Amino acid sequence: MKARLLMIVLAAILLFIAISWAAAVEFGPFELIYLRYFSLLFAPVGLLFILLQFVFVSRIKAIEEGIGLDRMLRWHRFFGRAGLSLVFFHALMIALYRLIAFGELFPTTFVWVGVAALLGFMVTASLASMYKKLNLAYETWRNIHLINYLLFPFVLIHAFYHVRDGSLLYYFFVVLAAAYLGVVLYRVIRIIGMRRKPYEVVEVRQETTDIWTLFLKGPNLNYKPGQFMFIQLMRNGKLSSAHPFTISASPTAEYLSITPKKLGDFTMTIKDTRVGDRAYIDAPYGVFSFLSYEQGEQNRQNEHIFIAGGIGITPFISMLRYIYDQKLDKKITLFWANRSEENLCFREELEKMEAELTGLKVVLVMSDQTDWQGEKGHIKAPMLLNYLETVEDKDFYVCGPPAMSRATIVELKQLDVPSFRIHSELFEL
Ligand SMILES: Cc1cc2nc3c(=O)[nH]c(=O)nc-3n(C[C@H](O)[C@H](O)[C@H](O)COP(=O)(O)OP(=O)(O)OC[C@H]3O[C@@H](n4cnc5c(N)ncnc54)[C@H](O)[C@@H]3O)c2cc1C
Repeated sequence: MKARLLMIVLAAILLFIAISWAAAVEFGPFELIYLRYFSLLFAPVGLLFILLQFVFVSRIKAIEEGIGLDRMLRWHRFFGRAGLSLVFFHALMIALYRLIAFGELFPTTFVWVGVAALLGFMVTASLASMYKKLNLAYETWRNIHLINYLLFPFVLIHAFYHVRDGSLLYYFFVVLAAAYLGVVLYRVIRIIGMRRKPYEVVEVRQETTDIWTLFLKGPNLNYKPGQFMFIQLMRNGKLSSAHPFTISASPTAEYLSITPKKLGDFTMTIKDTRVGDRAYIDAPYGVFSFLSYEQGEQNRQNEHIFIAGGIGITPFISMLRYIYDQKLDKKITLFWANRSEENLCFREELEKMEAELTGLKVVLVMSDQTDWQGEKGHIKAPMLLNYLETVEDKDFYVCGPPAMSRATIVELKQLDVPSFRIHSELFEL
């Protein structure tokens, strides 16, 4: 619903740009100057798209709620690429026009300002899209992105120099500049807000050899079970970068908690966290909660099928804890894939819940444990059908490592589960 509204607003802005542009140019029979005309249309649309990529990555709660951060990040990538392409073609077409019409470029200082910013955007975009191949650290990738915020004012300077004062396009650029300042201000205010409301680590619990839970005490947070947070830890006077983790606690619990599994630089230091360490939390985010999808009586009666891979259990344990604490009458089957029993966290708690909640069935699936008595291998369509009989009137929730989640979604599609019944969290931004 909100996504549709955003698209309508975007279409209205694009229409406004088209009208402003048409008012600024005089059409006659086709001539070379058309190259220039069209390049002038590409510039405002390109800048709008570049601004939108900032908006979609700024975690603006009023926009994110109901849409989800992963979808917004997809839009961020789309608008970033589309915006950059349009601005590139704007520059190329103007350059061509000048070369053909006058035999030279003769750019002014303000043209060079725009060209330099464009080159800057192209370098950051190329580095960002190749960061895995280049083996860059996530933090480096993120900092490269931040350079774009510094480049944007330069393209605005370029635009203001070239647009006629008092024209419709001039006012469009004024609004664009104001929106850019708004986004930057929003980010700064959010950081200040987080710093002023720190949380404190009250317990560090080892769950398995490589999984730990941190319990956090602090300001009350209103969240749905299954949502996630960004957390920065202050340890030994050093502040970590912000990492996303599902809130593994239920909103009914006294403390917030996250349950990270050792994977890389940051997660391998979780065990070094001490009681009393400070944490800064930006939350809640995400729509991966049965509460987000239970709209109307029809859905409320649906059976929920939870499919977790490894540490992807965290949003499900949060939802199950909530259902357990609130004594909700739900029919749920949880499929949980792991390599072997040693990787299982929350096992006793799950067994207790299964024994006490009549609607809950837990199916543990091990891929690498030959002596496992239960389901073995990967979660595939026949295994699902074996337990569920039919996929009708069921909502499927998938969470785990990206490869596992994608493979499971393919299996669900093979079973003809409609897309709107499949909800997923990829643990990858
Ligand atoms: C919505 C969501 C919920 C998550 N919930 C959990 C959870 O409950 N438990 C759990 O163990 N893991 C969870 N993760 C994954 C967790 O965020 C990453 O494992 C962790 O950030 C890896 O950091 P690292 O430095 O240890 O590993 P690295 O080896 O540096 O990074 C591995 C990968 O993790 C991602 N990543 C790294 N740093 C960041 C960052 N600062 N912000 C965003 N992504 C990053 C990148 O894709 C990177 O390629 C979740 C991820 C998302 C997106």
